[in-house]
Amino acid sequence: MMFKTTRDIDNLLKKHDSYREGCLNLIASENFASQKVRNYLTGDLGNRYGCYATHNPAEREYSGNKYIHEIEMATQALVKDIFKADYVDLRPIGGHMAGMSVVLGLLEPGDQVIEVSLSDWGHGLVGPMCQVRQFDETINVAYMAFDENRGVDVEKLKAQARELKPKMIIFGGSGTLFPEPVKALRPLADELDILIAYDASHVTGLIAAGVFPNPLSEGADIMFGSTHKSFPGPQGGFVASNNHDLMVKVGNTLSPSLVTSHHLNRLPALAASILEMKEYGEDYAKQVVKNAKALAVALAEMGFNVQGKGMGYTESHLLLMELGDYVDTAPGKLLEEAGILCSDDFSGSSPEVRIGTPEVTRKGMKEEQMPVIAQFFKRALIDKEEPEALAKEVESFSRQYIGIEYSF
Ligand SMILES: *Cc1c(COP(=O)(O)O)cnc(C)c1O
Repeated sequence: MMFKTTRDIDNLLKKHDSYREGCLNLIASENFASQKVRNYLTGDLGNRYGCYATHNPAEREYSGNKYIHEIEMATQALVKDIFKADYVDLRPIGGHMAGMSVVLGLLEPGDQVIEVSLSDWGHGLVGPMCQVRQFDETINVAYMAFDENRGVDVEKLKAQARELKPKMIIFGGSGTLFPEPVKALRPLADELDILIAYDASHVTGLIAAGVFPNPLSEGADIMFGSTHKSFPGPQGGFVASNNHDLMVKVGNTLSPSLVTSHHLNRLPALAASILEMKEYGEDYAKQVVKNAKALAVALAEMGFNVQGKGMGYTESHLLLMELGDYVDTAPGKLLEEAGILCSDDFSGSSPEVRIGTPEVTRKGMKEEQMPVIAQFFKRALIDKEEPEALAKEVESFSRQYIGIEYSF
C-alpha cells in the first residue's frame, strides 16, 4: 500500500487509534500524554531551529529566536526544579541520545565502564555499541551483578569496581524494580575516582514525583533519561547534573556531534507535562507503584513466578515475570494476539515478560482492576485459551478505561 491522499493517512491513523484503545497497554516504556500536552506538539516550533551550539541557551544566538530562547530557558528552569539539578540540557531528542552524549562526552579511549547487561534488562549504552567499531575498540565494558531479588548486588559491585577501577558506573535499566545503590557506592567512587551516571529513562516520572530516590541527591554525578516512559510527557530526552564541568563536556558532545535540530516543539509540551506533574504527579506515581505491587501479588497468587518476591516484588512502575514453566518461546506475540501489550525477553535463562502500569493508571485503573488483568494473563498463558476470543474480552475491559486522570 502507498498513501495516495491524506484521507488514506487519516483512515489508517483512525484504525491505529481504535486498535490501541481496545488493547490493554502494559508496555512499561510507554505512557499516555494528556490532550493538552499533545496539542503543544503541533505548534510552530516544530518547524523552527533553536540555536544548538553551547550547553547554555543563555549564550546561544540564532535568527528568529527571540521567544524560542525564552521558551527554552523557562522549560530548563522547570526541569532543574523537578530534578533539583543546577544544570540541565534538553537538546537530546530521546533518552538514548542523552545517554550517548554522557558516554561519548565523558569517556576516553581505553576507559572501562560497568553497566547493566542486556540480559538484566539493561539498555546497553556501551555494550551494543560494538556495532560502531571506533567505540567497541576503545571502550571496555563489564556488567554489574544482580541478586536473587533482581536488585543490584552491592558487595559484588564494590569488589568489581575495586578490581576493574572503571572510569564510570552506569546505573539504571529498562527493568528497574528497586532503587539502585547509588548512595552505597559514593564513598568508593570518591576513593577510586569513578563517575556515577544514572540512566533514569524508565523511572523519570517516579523521580520527578518524589516516589523514587533522586539519584543526584543520592550522589550520582550525572543523570539522563527519557520524558515519555513513567514520565507522561512528549517523547524526548534530558541530561541533568550539579557538576558544571561535566555538563560542558556533555553539551559540547551533543552539539555539534550528535544533534543539531533538537525538535523544539517538545519544549512547550514538556513544560506543560511538568506543570501537570507538579499538580498531580505525586498521586499519579503513588498509584502507579500501588498498581504494580497489586498486579504482582495477583499474578503470584495465580501461580506465576513474579520476580523480587523477597523484596515485595517491586518499588517501581513495573514488574518482571519468569515464564519458563509455561512457555518455551517468546510470550509477547501470544499476549499481543490476546490484546495484551507488554515486552518480553528471552536472552536470560527463562523467557520473561515485563509489565508496566503507567498507562493503565493514567487511564483510571486502580488496585481493584489488577486481579482482572492478572486473570487475563492466566487465561492466555496458563490455561492457554484461544487468544482471539480472549482479545474480545480484553477489549471490552480496556474500553472502559479511556479517560485520562492526573492531568489538566
Ligand atoms: C528507553 C531507554 C533508553 C532510550 O530512551 P529513548 O527515549 O527511547 O531514546 C535508554 N536507557 C534505558 C534504560 C531505557 O529504558
